[in-house]
Amino acid sequence: MAETIFSKIIRREIPADILYEDERCLAFRDVNPQAPVHVLVIPREPMESLATAPAEAAGLLGHLLLKAAHVARQEKLESWRTVINTGAEAGQTVFHLHVHVIGGRPLAWPPG
Ligand code: AMP
Repeated sequence: MAETIFSKIIRREIPADILYEDERCLAFRDVNPQAPVHVLVIPREPMESLATAPAEAAGLLGHLLLKAAHVARQEKLESWRTVINTGAEAGQTVFHLHVHVIGGRPLAWPPG
């Protein structure tokens, strides 16, 4: 897959406000937050999107969701939304799979 800005964050070539990291993933604040808390959880191993995620990624995908919840609790959220935009028409702009963790304000449903 083509390199994205998230690879540069993983390699510390550009700055990010990193809240959590381990051997499989990284969580950092979104540069254009849509709520008081807006964090992105990304795998270190680049993967374009859920659309192309292989079956072997099942464990990693579960890890990302559990760490999304970890970061939400770390940010003292009681309610939050996790979003994975898949494909340009769904709003995906960075083609390195990421889980948005959004909270800190009431969230309307359905999303736009
Ligand atoms: P998506 O539109 O679902 O692909 O989400 C990509 C997200 O990455 C957007 O919410 C952007 O604001 C965010 N983003 C892009 N560049 C950076 C960056 N350098 N640091 C943190 N967040 C970023």
